[in-house]
Amino acid sequence: MRLIIMGPPGVGKGSLASDLTKHYHIPHISTGEMFRAEIKKGSPVGKLVQNQINAGKFVNDSLTNDIVRIRLQARDVKEGFLMDGYPRNLRQAEDFDHILMQYGWTVDYVIYLDSPEDVILDRITGRRVCPTCGSTYHVRNNKPKVEGICDKDQTPLVQRPDDTVAITKERLVIYHDQTQPIIEYYRSKGNIITIDGRGSIEEVSRRVIEELDGKK
Ligand SMILES: [Zn+2]
Repeated sequence: MRLIIMGPPGVGKGSLASDLTKHYHIPHISTGEMFRAEIKKGSPVGKLVQNQINAGKFVNDSLTNDIVRIRLQARDVKEGFLMDGYPRNLRQAEDFDHILMQYGWTVDYVIYLDSPEDVILDRITGRRVCPTCGSTYHVRNNKPKVEGICDKDQTPLVQRPDDTVAITKERLVIYHDQTQPIIEYYRSKGNIITIDGRGSIEEVSRRVIEELDGKK
């Protein structure tokens, strides 16, 4: 199954992605993570990416498409994948179709996680992260066993500096501008599944799996 997961920042894509990849035994392809890995390695691609980020830009389309193209050459994607963070604009969505076409593949479903703005703001402002292992928690919806402490390594949890109401609202505006055309693109192809992103991670995962299994 070849899936794309989309949704505004803070809607819970990361947790859902990890549930779905386990359930369907497909790899999670996150362009954000691939870029961070290249930067860490100090590779030529990593340096290009770092320059663009330092200049306050999104990574450009051709570089993003290249990294996706390379990732799709790996063996583990033969049975499918879950794409996260890509495509980010209409141009990339069209390019992605061309890339897949070389393998005779298409996108099966685009899972669009949606939530009202107040729910998203609550998710983001209540989010706490572990600086050691990167695990994320929420002060109400996904509490650690001991308040303020990571379950895995007992590190005190922190709030990311950009997880504020003002910055989140700004990110949402940018998000909607860029993604609305992609949603329309997939809607016209008839493979978009809109899922209510409210509720616990378990509830949202169950909703998605029921929808996908109902399509088979
Ligand atoms: Zn931790």
